[in-house]
This record gives sequence, C-alpha cells and structure tokens, in this order.
Amino acid sequence: MKIAILSQDATLYSTQRLMEAGEKRGHEVRVINYLRCYMNITSHKPSVMYQGNPLENFDAIIPRIGASKTFYGAAVVRQFEVMGVFTANESQAISRSRDKLRCLQILSREGIGLPVTGFAHSTQDIDGLIDTVGGAPVVIKLLEGTQGIGVVLAETHHAAKSVIEAFRGLDANILVQEFIKEAEGMDIRCFVIDNKVVASMKRQGAPGEFRSNLHRGGTAQQIKLTPEERSTAIRAAKAMGLRVAGVDLLRSNHGPVVMEVNSSPGLEGIEKATEVDVAGRIIEYFEKNATLGKVRDRIQY
Ligand code: ADP
Repeated sequence: MKIAILSQDATLYSTQRLMEAGEKRGHEVRVINYLRCYMNITSHKPSVMYQGNPLENFDAIIPRIGASKTFYGAAVVRQFEVMGVFTANESQAISRSRDKLRCLQILSREGIGLPVTGFAHSTQDIDGLIDTVGGAPVVIKLLEGTQGIGVVLAETHHAAKSVIEAFRGLDANILVQEFIKEAEGMDIRCFVIDNKVVASMKRQGAPGEFRSNLHRGGTAQQIKLTPEERSTAIRAAKAMGLRVAGVDLLRSNHGPVVMEVNSSPGLEGIEKATEVDVAGRIIEYFEKNATLGKVRDRIQY
C-alpha cells in the first residue's frame, strides 16, 4: 500500500512510529505536511498538490491534525476523501471531535455516561448554570483547550462565578462540569481502533494536581479495564464516527464517564506505558480495510 501520514512534523514520535510500522510491513509511507498542501477543487479531476506535484495513487491517509489547525487539516482530509482515498478518520469525524460541546452532545444522545455538564452564552444566569451541575466545586473548561490548559477547578461558588465571568468577558466559550472528586486526579486513556480497545493506560496527576495530563506532569501506567469501561470507550468512539480514537474516561461513583474523544491520539504515552505496538495495529487496520472501498460517515451531527 501507499500510505500518507498527514503531519506537520516528521520528527514527532507518533509520526515516526507510524512510518516505521508501515515500512516494516512492506508499505510505502510518506509524511506530508498538510499545511503545505494546496488543492484543485474541480469535479473533473480533484487533486491535492504538494511541492508542485499532485499527490497521486495513495491508498490510505493517516491524519494527524493539530488542534489549532483543524479547519485546514480537515479540508485536506476531505479532499482526499473526494478523491476516493481511505482515511483512518474522516474529516467530519475529526471536526466533530474537536468541539468539546458537540462531542458531549453526541455522546449524551447515545446514552453514554458523562460528567454532568452545563453550557451557557450569557453571564446573567451563572448561578443557575452552577446549580445545574450540582453546585461547587465545579470544573470550568475552555471549549477549545487542549493538554489541560484552560481547565480550572473552582472550589467555591464564588470562585466559579468569577472564573466564568472572566472567561466570558474574554468572549471565550466554556463548559461547566461536575467535579469528579473520587477520580483523585486519575483518568484513563483507552486507545480504540476499529471498535476494539487495543491499549489502555491510567494517568495520574502530579501531587496536588487534579489534571492528569502528561503535559502537566502526570505519569502513565498500564491499566486493566472493567468490561463497562471497555464498552463505554468503544461506544464513545463509534458514536463519534472515529475508527482510530483516544477515549478519556474518569472513574466516577456513577460508573465510567467520558470526558473527551480524541481523533489524533498521541502514541508515545500509550506505547511506552503499555508496550503495545499501537502504530502496528493502525497499519494492520489499514491492511484489512483500505482496499474494501470507502466507509461513509453515518453520524448526523
Ligand atoms: P484537555 O482536553 O485540555 O486535556 P480535559 O477535559 O481532558 O482537557 O481535562 C484535563 C484533565 O483534568 C483530565 O485529564 C482530568 O484528569 C481532569 N478533569 C477534567 N474534567 C474533570 C472533571 N469533571 N472532574 C475531575 N477531573 C477532571
């Protein structure tokens, strides 16, 4: 197969590992900086151009789209879809997963466990918004934040109100969420490929830190999932229309709750913590599916 990895940086661990895994299995793999792609949008012969030449004869693409580059990245993926190229995740599913609110709304439609979450535009009803999620302490999140930046724990009603007012004053969109105290700074990342959890790790925040992100000093370790956690992760990826996904869960008193579903989950943390060849599993998935023709996105939101 001829595979393109759409990535801004060929030296990133995930990009390197995917390239290595593809080549090891006898495929031709090329890293393409999607921000340098330009497109010919025509019904006669749609194409993606790169460094002066059309990108032709690719069987499959692996989008590794940076959170801040979703708009253009998804457009490049869409162009490959128009050309009939198989993609690990479709453009619609990538765009959908990047919006935390949209993601939670889709998961709630499927009856998947979630932290109680509120969302509002106006600052006139903040008290009501905080009460909706059960009162302080609450977690306040910037809708477009990643790596734990823009996630704040407000311990009192007063603090919550000030933080919400400050964010809204900057015109930022935010979610207000019940604080899952019993998670004790631990979350679970489930790596899902083609409706199976291929690896899972727990991430523990640094002492005194409720956020478990590895970028915030958290540590990772392999974890054995309960059947309920496993099925929640699979249902969440499926609900979002993602074939390759990182599903983040918290262990709450009312069962596993999904915080987020990531469409370009990193490989470094999960491969190092679990010693699973996740990159190899992604390539394997391509071998089984890329030649079967396109699978159409069926999610309607
Ligand atoms: P990001 O996408 O920026 O990583 P998350 O929503 O995943 O933001 O939140 C970052 C971390 O904060 C999570 O990994 C988790 O450890 C913690 N966290 C987030 N939401 C909650 C919550 N409602 N209750 C308890 N901890 C939370």
